[in-house]
Amino acid sequence: MALGEFELIARYFEPLGRERGDVGGVIAGIGDDAAVLAPPPGMQLVAALDTLVEGRHFPAGSPPESVGHRALAVNLSDLAAMGADPAWYLLSLTLPRVDEAWLEGFARGMGGLARRSGIALVGGDTTGGPLSISVQVLGLSRPGEALLRGGAQPGDLLFVSGTPGEAAAGLQLELAAGDGKPAPDDGTPAQRHVRARFRYPTPRLALGRALRGLASACIDVSDGVAADAARLGAASGCAPCIEAERMPLSAALREASGAELALEQALSGGEDFELCFTVPASRLAELPERLEAAGTVATCIGSMEPGEGLRLRRDGRPWSIRRTGFDHFPSRE
Ligand code: ADP
Ligand code: MG
Repeated sequence: MALGEFELIARYFEPLGRERGDVGGVIAGIGDDAAVLAPPPGMQLVAALDTLVEGRHFPAGSPPESVGHRALAVNLSDLAAMGADPAWYLLSLTLPRVDEAWLEGFARGMGGLARRSGIALVGGDTTGGPLSISVQVLGLSRPGEALLRGGAQPGDLLFVSGTPGEAAAGLQLELAAGDGKPAPDDGTPAQRHVRARFRYPTPRLALGRALRGLASACIDVSDGVAADAARLGAASGCAPCIEAERMPLSAALREASGAELALEQALSGGEDFELCFTVPASRLAELPERLEAAGTVATCIGSMEPGEGLRLRRDGRPWSIRRTGFDHFPSRE
């Protein structure tokens, strides 16, 4: 290794630890054997961890900024889905070699999102091996305020934020060369837009916060709206019914994929990190103000019904999608 492990941490990761984050509360951070953290009195800790493995969760040779951004974004998305405030994170990095240009880009991508999200790096681990990044995020929630998957009831309305499907379309274009490496950065503006949506997903933290006390259930969309709505339904003991024609399809997605494929990607694409949530019909009038406060759009795509299992309808008739998922990395977990 050109650069020793300790110099590497000092050069690229200690600066991310010096950003205090919005919460503060770091009694001891990077440099000691473990971090000592002081949650504000009365708050509950919300913890999540996700791992990205090269070739499974992102194409080999992806831009390092994107890898750093995504590794933190997928975790922040879990905090968003819980309606939690980001506080601290830990990073476990397994690197095949010390490539300073790569590390600089990675730290820039991760650090930029961390700063914008008010989360501070407080520790981690650095080892050699096939490229893999694990991030653990710690968030804060007031007792009883966390948004869970299991609170939806029949009659609640089902929403999704943003324009899902773009990231899946983007990933498909990333992998178009067929050699597992990202295709060159060319293509139409719509193609570049959807690729950027895969590379730089936006965790919906403001929306998660805005839904506290209003959404009856919430999940982030990592595996596709249909699959994740089904999970929300299973946890809640009722059946999500999605009216396919209500799915919000962006102009870029329609242009990049064509209308029919766009609808399939919107329903089953995954990787969008939008929020899928339910709101009791009696409280629907409160939603627009919350969305405006969050600066996020959300679309009603159906409702919860008694029973179990996902129900898909199109123009009032039962419907099914040809493909249930776009698994470009079939062996991933
Ligand atoms: P130890 O051997 O005591 O576990 P390490 O050498 O693994 O210590 O880490 C030294 C310090 O650097 C610890 O505070 C650890 O949390 C931090 N650290 C190690 N790797 C990273 C990383 N990739 N990002 C942030 N902090 C890290
Ligand atoms: Mg130790």
